[in-house]
Amino acid sequence: MLDIFTQEKRSQIMSRVRCGNTKPELKLRQVLHGLKYRYRLHSKELPGKPDIVFPKFRKVIFVNGCFWHQHPGCKKAALPRTNHSYWEEKLANNVKRDAATIDKLAKIGWATMVVWECELKNLDEVTHRVEKYLRGCQPT
Ligand SMILES: [Zn+2]
Repeated sequence: MLDIFTQEKRSQIMSRVRCGNTKPELKLRQVLHGLKYRYRLHSKELPGKPDIVFPKFRKVIFVNGCFWHQHPGCKKAALPRTNHSYWEEKLANNVKRDAATIDKLAKIGWATMVVWECELKNLDEVTHRVEKYLRGCQPT
C-alpha cells in the first residue's frame, strides 16, 4: 500500500497513536488532518449530530462503535448471552435510528459515510476510503 504521508508526517501520526489517542473518533480525525480536510465536529443542527461534518461538501461521517451500532458480520457486535432479548431490542432500535438518520440527511441533501470502530485498526484502509468518499472535493 502506497504511503500517502511523508516520512515526517507519518512519524508524527505514529507518535500520536503511541501516546494513546485510542478513541476511534480521534483516529479518524488524524486521518482527516493528514489529508488536510477541514471539518466541524458534532454539528447539532444536523440529524443524528454527525461526528464529522464537511459543510462545504454537504457530507458527513459517523464513527460507529461496532457493538452499539451493530456492525454487520463483526465479532465485536455479538450480543451478550445474559439479558439477550433486552440487548437485542435495544440495539435493534439503535440500528433503526441510524438508518432513519441517514435517510433524513439524504432528504436534505447530505451524503453519509460510516466508519466502524474496528476499521480504524487499519488507518491506511480508512484513509483510502475517506479519500474516495471526498473525491472531487478540494481540501480547504
Ligand atoms: Zn466492527
